[in-house]
This record gives sequence, structure tokens and C-alpha cells, in this order.
Amino acid sequence: MTQSLMIVMYHYVRPLKGTHYSNLKALELEYFRGQLDFIQRHCQVVRMEEVIAAARGQGSLPPRAALLTFDDGYREHHEHVFPLLAERGLQGSFFPPACAVREGRVLGVNKIHFTLASGANPSGLVSEIFTAMDENRREYDLKDNADYFATYSTESRYDDPEVAFIKRILQKGLPEPLRAPLIDRLFRRFVTEDEKAFAAELYMSTDQLRELQGAGMFIGSHGDQHLWLNTLSPDDQRKEIDDSLDFLAELGVSTRDWVMCYPYGGYNDSLLTLLRERQCALGLTVDMGVADISRNDPLLLPRLDTNDVPHSLEATLQNYGWMQEISANNA
Ligand SMILES: [Zn+2]
Repeated sequence: MTQSLMIVMYHYVRPLKGTHYSNLKALELEYFRGQLDFIQRHCQVVRMEEVIAAARGQGSLPPRAALLTFDDGYREHHEHVFPLLAERGLQGSFFPPACAVREGRVLGVNKIHFTLASGANPSGLVSEIFTAMDENRREYDLKDNADYFATYSTESRYDDPEVAFIKRILQKGLPEPLRAPLIDRLFRRFVTEDEKAFAAELYMSTDQLRELQGAGMFIGSHGDQHLWLNTLSPDDQRKEIDDSLDFLAELGVSTRDWVMCYPYGGYNDSLLTLLRERQCALGLTVDMGVADISRNDPLLLPRLDTNDVPHSLEATLQNYGWMQEISANNA
């Protein structure tokens, strides 16, 4: 029997209007509230524990099941998301990267987002990145700048070509020893020199995570340093996973039925082998789709981005192919 599960993926959820970083690609808090209304009308929000049981064949999910997942451990999840979920009696699942919480480090991906949202001119950022590439071309055997621009500027759902290029070249396109210091430099110039203070404002504290856990929310692993796990050696993968499990244990989260949320959706065979050894119950990807718990590999569950789900109660379902899929499967 088919057991459809719509897993919704959230990142930033905050009130944006009139704030310092109003350009941040975040879900406006009002839309989140509207989306919860929509989901509660059309779906049944389930708990992670029910999904784990169903994946093991120890129970079944209700029709039109939905699971709410929040990546990256942002403080706004505690401040804005948690109260809304709590008042509606819904469970959210939260995936904080250990190093951001424990060591007060701002993830590279967040440094890029806030640099872009700082008001810095994208064309200016592109030329700064080109300059850094020119200075390091020989050492890292880089191709022409135009080649990189052609590769990384196209086919983005949400960004114009310059912004798409900046994100991708800094997140993945350049060799790590070149891109990490470049990201740091841009963040320090355009956002802040005080990374620790910024991290304290951006991410939840361990106390806040414990509070979520105590209130029945689910906390899972998002790695330690938020790396592309599919690019690491098996030894480095083990370190990332075990450090993140130590962090969960510190929070008082059980590491028996634990859940992995792959940073950037990156996984490969050696990682999946390791996760099976560590008895990981479920893995959440960023592959887009409605999960089928009876059929999917439990370590490779697809999700829908919040932008793929309506943001108001009045939305008509006809525009959403996945919703018909869920309805048909459970008919
Ligand atoms: Zn993430």
C-alpha cells in the first residue's frame, strides 16, 4: 500500500518587511502562518516518530500525511516557528549544524546569503570574485572566468544570473582553500567583523534546542560543519557524522532512532553505508517530490520546498500536481 508523505523543507522563516536584511531569501512569517493554515486544512501533520515507525513497517501513516522540517538551526525557528507550532499542537523537526551552535561559527552558506542581502552590488561582488580568481589562477589551475560564469550563472529557479553565479562559485565552484577565505573576506567587509556575535544572533543556543526537545519537537543531525558530505573521504564523513551525533547526545537527543538531514542534499554510497552502520533511521534529501514511505529507501526521502506549497488557505489545489498525487494515492 502506498503511504504518501509530504515533507516540507524550511530554511529562514522570519518577518522580513522593514528589517535590516529585507532582501534575504526567507519565508515571510505571515506566509508561514498561512501555509500552516493550508496544511492543516488539507493534510495531517505527523510526528517524526510515526514516520520512523511506518518506515519500519510498524504502523501506518494517516492519509495526506505531512512532516515539517527546518534546516540549519536558526534562532528564528525558536523565536517565531516554535510558538506557532506549539499553539497548534504540531511537531516540527529541526536540524542544527553542530559547529554553528557549539563554536559560534557562521556557516559559509550563511555568510554568502547575508553578504548578498547586505546591499552589496552583485556586479561588484562578481568582479571581486573574478579578481581573486585572477590572482590565484596559476596556483589552482583555474579556467577562464567566463567559463565559470557560463557554468554557474544559468538555470536557477530563484536567482538572477549574477546572484546564481556568486552563490554557486562560492558554495562549490572554487577549491575550498580559495573559497573559504574569500567568503570570509566578503562577509567581514559587507556584514560584520564580529562573527561570534553574529552567530549568537543567527543560530539557536543549546538551551533553546533543549527547550524545543523538551516540548516534543524533534532534533536531528545536519552534520558538524555543514559540508558537502558526498565530496569527503569515508574517514572525514565518519568524523562529521560522529561529531554531530556527539552533539545530539549532549542535547539529550536519542542517537538510536536518529534522522540525518544532508547538508545541500549531498550523499553518496560510502555515506549511506556509514549511516546504516550507525543505525540512522531516516535520511532527508533535497530531491524534490512527495515521499512514499512504503517504497522509498528510508535514507533517501525526497522533500518539497516551502515555495512549492501554497502560502494561504484560499489557494486552489489544481495548480499543485503533488497534491493531486497525494489525494489519488490515498483515495
Ligand atoms: Zn543546511
